[in-house]
Amino acid sequence: MEYLTLNNGHKMPMAGIGVFLLNPEETELSVLSALADGIRLIDTANGYMNERAVGRAIAKSGVAREDIFLVTKLWPTVYTDENAIDETLARLGTDYVDLLFLHQPAGDWRAGYKMMEKAYKEGKVKALGVSNFPIDWLKEIIETAEIKPQMVQVEAHPYYPQTELKKVLAETGMGLMAWYPLGHGDKNLINEPVFTKLAEKYGKSNAQIILRWHVQSGNVIFPGSKNPAHIRDNFNIFDFSLTDEEMAEIAAVDKNVRYYNATIEDAQKYAKMAMDFSAQE
Ligand code: NAD
Repeated sequence: MEYLTLNNGHKMPMAGIGVFLLNPEETELSVLSALADGIRLIDTANGYMNERAVGRAIAKSGVAREDIFLVTKLWPTVYTDENAIDETLARLGTDYVDLLFLHQPAGDWRAGYKMMEKAYKEGKVKALGVSNFPIDWLKEIIETAEIKPQMVQVEAHPYYPQTELKKVLAETGMGLMAWYPLGHGDKNLINEPVFTKLAEKYGKSNAQIILRWHVQSGNVIFPGSKNPAHIRDNFNIFDFSLTDEEMAEIAAVDKNVRYYNATIEDAQKYAKMAMDFSAQE
């Protein structure tokens, strides 16, 4: 495993698993099996309705809490609820999370960020981030926040490497967690000739070349898969390195296209989608 040192010194594994769209039972099995396989980064969210299951799996795993990097996200409807972070921690069965995101640029996100800063100062959160935020709002946070953010979580892959955003991140030493790291499984992306060529050279799959490109670009990955062979392969990317020339060849496949084009107006609808997080199993 390789690690990213965040701009506040906290260390984060560069590969892990996400539990988006998994029901509580699937979540518990998937987190338990990941922890048994040595995976130490877990990404969930209030809105995934499976935080309790993540907490159960961590408790059952026998892995020490401090050896796990736990990421979750606040849903926009709780940005103004002063109990939201304590309730999140209670569902996860932990005293702190390693990284807490505002999930969407919606609702009163400025209040949400302030609440995260307070929790950071109280030791309940080790690093702060925003997910899916437009660059202008991220810049506002960087300029005005007392506790500067450590991470963003956004769509990123070789067709949409987030070149503009990465310049802003570089100025403040912030890192990027890439969602859709494999382009949501798009065969056109995965089968680009440059990946096939490099896969042959290194004895890896095309997907492994893409994931290696992410890590060498500084991106933290948590690729989705229900296929056990793929899950194993997706972590087996730390025994080879792409050359600078190969990284440049991959940069040339940039199409500046994303798979999920959400506008601020789209995101605002999340501020009205109230969920009963306490009701989850
Ligand atoms: P992904 O790019 O990881 O694509 C996954 C798909 O790629 C799989 O379904 C499978 O079809 C294919 N695949 C996976 N491993 C492969 C391999 N080794 N070889 C060939 N094909 C392979 O995207 P995803 O799973 O849709 O998303 C990843 C994570 O992003 C999710 O777990 C979710 O938590 C996160 N996400 C976050 C947000 C957000 O708003 N923060 C939004 C969407 C997704």
